Parts: sequence; C-alpha cells; structure tokens
Amino acid sequence: MSGTLDDCRHERHVASRKILVDPSGVELCRCKVCGCDLRRMPAMRRWFRSGMMG
Ligand SMILES: [Zn+2]
Repeated sequence: MSGTLDDCRHERHVASRKILVDPSGVELCRCKVCGCDLRRMPAMRRWFRSGMMG
C-alpha cells in the first residue's frame, strides 16, 4: 500500500519499516510519505502523528 500526502492529511500515514518500541510498548516510527513522527499504542491499529495524542 502506498499513501499520498492527501492520505496523510486524513491521518492515514504509511509507517516506515524501521519501528522502535519504547518501554511502555508504544511503537514509534516515521511516515514514509510526509516524514512526520508517528506513534501507535499497543491496542491501536492506526498510526497517529506524535503530538496528536498528547
Ligand atoms: Zn504521513
């Protein structure tokens, strides 16, 4: 699946393959399309931009 900047504007980012997991289990990576920092909670299936969820 390849996203577009329009997808990014609708918060549908494309996670890069390089994913870090912090001690609390939150996954961190970068969007391949817009380059923003993304994070994902263990219970979530979607990526969110860092900052959107506090
Ligand atoms: Zn993006």
